Amino acid sequence: MTAQLINGNELSTQLRADVARRAAALKVKGITPGLAVVLVGDNPASQVYVRNKVKACADSGLHSVMEKHPADMSEAALLALVEKLNNDPTIHGILVQLPLPVHMDAQKVIEAIAPEKDVDGFHVASAGALMVGRPGFWPCTPYGCMKMLESIGYSLKGKHAVVIGRSNIVGKPMALMLLQQNATVTICHSGTKDLKAQTLQADVIVAAVGKRNVLTADMVKPGAVVIDVGMNRNDEGKLCGDVDFDGVSKVASYITPVPGGVGPMTITMLLVNTLEAAERV
Ligand code: NAP
Repeated sequence: MTAQLINGNELSTQLRADVARRAAALKVKGITPGLAVVLVGDNPASQVYVRNKVKACADSGLHSVMEKHPADMSEAALLALVEKLNNDPTIHGILVQLPLPVHMDAQKVIEAIAPEKDVDGFHVASAGALMVGRPGFWPCTPYGCMKMLESIGYSLKGKHAVVIGRSNIVGKPMALMLLQQNATVTICHSGTKDLKAQTLQADVIVAAVGKRNVLTADMVKPGAVVIDVGMNRNDEGKLCGDVDFDGVSKVASYITPVPGGVGPMTITMLLVNTLEAAERV
């Protein structure tokens, strides 16, 4: 078997065109969806991420504000900035780029964001809403993975999904989203005894670990769907995922590539969440 690619760039292009259409419709009513991106410090990777987010907003007709502050900004000043953005009617979504400098309590800052503007979906209110199946913002990366499964018309009902990784931003919300679609879900982590025994039972595998080759061909049931969230560098310094792509794509039915898979979907779902925040006003 040779797996079919789920192309995150193509799907993103389609979804972003829809965002642009809906943003244009809101503008007719006098509302321009607005995202505030807050960057504290000069982490080079964070600088690239926020630039990409601001550019993606502009490309889809969303307004964005970049709040860039030095690493020695006080936590109190950051909390005051978040409060100001909470009260700014031109801003519908607030994103505080993580990681924050070590002198700040990141969770406290995230929880200062008004839940109706929490377009990253990291607020405990958003996590709680996802857990009990109430409307709220879903974290962008697992939400993007769900859109990828939807794009191939995959029904999760009765399927066995294995999520590798249990972080609050990817693994856990991913598992809840799969559960909500009636999959039977297993969550694996660094303490899982026999990962291969788990993954071999899976119809769907989501790898969100941050280690190369966590999933190899011998660990995948023929015909399984494989979603690779990981972002790593290979020996040549090139971006790669958690999955041994060449081997697994000979066994799986569908697979997401890295790059060009989940990565672009994450920013796309941020645009979708920001648009929806503006539509809910
Ligand atoms: P994280 O917070 O470091 O979590 C990694 C998870 O993997 C943890 O739950 C850990 O288990 C588990 N793990 C570690 N080694 C393992 C092993 N050998 N077997 C099974 N599980 C293992 O990372 P994250 O924030 O969830 O991100 C995961 C990856 O996705 C990273 O590569 C990150 O860069 C990437 N990512 C990509 C995007 C995107 O847009 N494409 C977005 C977010 C993240 P414990 O809990 O037991 O420690």
